Amino acid sequence: MTSPVRVRFAPSPTGYLHVGSGHSALVNWLFARHHGGSFLLRIEDTDAERNRPELVDNVLEMLNWLGLEWDGEPVHQSDRGDLYRDAAAKLVAAGAVYYCGCTGEEVQARNAAAGGKPGYDGHCRDRGLEAGPGRALRFRTPAEGRTGWTDLVRGEISFANTDIEDFVVVRGNGAPMFLLANSFDDADMAITHVIRGEDHVNSTPKYLLLREALGLGVPQAFAHLPLLVNEQRKKLSKRRDDVSMSDYRDRGYLPEAMVNYLALLGWGPADGVEVRSISEIVDLYRLEDVNAAPAFFDQKKLSFVNAEKIRSLSVPEFLDVADPFLSMGEPARAALASMATEVQERVRTLAEVEPMIEFLVVDAPNFDEDSWTKIITKGKLVAEMLDATIDRLTTLASSGAEDWLPAAIQQAVAEAAVVAGLVNAEGAPQLSKAQGPVRLAVSGRSVGPPLWESLAVLGADRTLSRLRDLRSRLD
Ligand code: GLU
Ligand code: ZN
Repeated sequence: MTSPVRVRFAPSPTGYLHVGSGHSALVNWLFARHHGGSFLLRIEDTDAERNRPELVDNVLEMLNWLGLEWDGEPVHQSDRGDLYRDAAAKLVAAGAVYYCGCTGEEVQARNAAAGGKPGYDGHCRDRGLEAGPGRALRFRTPAEGRTGWTDLVRGEISFANTDIEDFVVVRGNGAPMFLLANSFDDADMAITHVIRGEDHVNSTPKYLLLREALGLGVPQAFAHLPLLVNEQRKKLSKRRDDVSMSDYRDRGYLPEAMVNYLALLGWGPADGVEVRSISEIVDLYRLEDVNAAPAFFDQKKLSFVNAEKIRSLSVPEFLDVADPFLSMGEPARAALASMATEVQERVRTLAEVEPMIEFLVVDAPNFDEDSWTKIITKGKLVAEMLDATIDRLTTLASSGAEDWLPAAIQQAVAEAAVVAGLVNAEGAPQLSKAQGPVRLAVSGRSVGPPLWESLAVLGADRTLSRLRDLRSRLD
């Protein structure tokens, strides 16, 4: 019988949760849920200088936002120093480690003199140094053989032991190194599958050597996930790329879109249907199908998935998730409710919602510069079109408010286009060209929700006064 699956997400809180670690978290969570196992959380906060409590808060908040609920209480490595010191004592007793008093400069100088490879040269291996201030503990790497594993994503991987330096296990100041804490805890927490980013491939042989020396056995399996890269195929970086998970939330991405998109990095369902429910992804996701090649974090595709998820909401759900993005409060809420479906079908992010309905809230539109150039500077027959539209819509408005409806407005604008001369070779109105000046007049922009519905909601008085205002600016 195989033991129940236990996986963990083990962030080092040295920055806000970024999309790469979000991907690792998600894959662990998917694997646990797929197999009915446990998804544990371990905060790897042993580096006291770089870890800050608010970063831990950010990690937990973002996992909650993504809906990746974990099992049990998070484990904090900062609480477990005694366990790591005991493990180190065990290594000392077994002769698996030795004390080293070399400084980095000394090691470098010796390497330079020998013209050899970088890394520790084994200088203190057989010096039999006792414990002492400033003395680190180094692992005595085997002089021959290989250390390897079968990776669920990458297949067979192994390293010659001679290529693995005698790495530090406990620093000169007594602080246990990340690798000791990490490999000890995985055993202590009975982790069955270690799933993490590809940047850990090179330290996995050290991890395995440590586990063996501690008599801890090895996990059932490892999976090293693909590296995430940007459009230039460079590793995603905090400085260059948009990587902070909370920024995506604040820019109006839905958590279910982020989860769906992250799942598609290095993986796709067999039927090719990429946008789907999280529970379907839980059913379909298999680590064996993940591609080891670097995965392009494609913001355009993320926006596309987000737009699809927004469209799939019910109207009340849409109004609910859009609400925190309405800085103009109640009037914006009312305006959005008056044309929710139209807006919902057109936005890629929730941050795009308010700009689309702003024209219904403000007293006069703010003219967007690019839109002005496109419609006015480069447009043809603009004054003619505005004159004819004012004329036709004034007539429509005088027949009463009950006639001020999308279809009638469209009809009036089409007639205006013919009068203005915006027609094709057959004499039919060029409606998309005709809409430009009208849309600009009422909203200040060249794109937005469907125009006829917009004018119907805006009302005859406001529509006509905005058309006249733009017309007067042209003289
Ligand atoms: N703490 C490591 C990191 O944030 C993860 C190590 C692991 O998953 O084994 O990169
Ligand atoms: Zn040394």
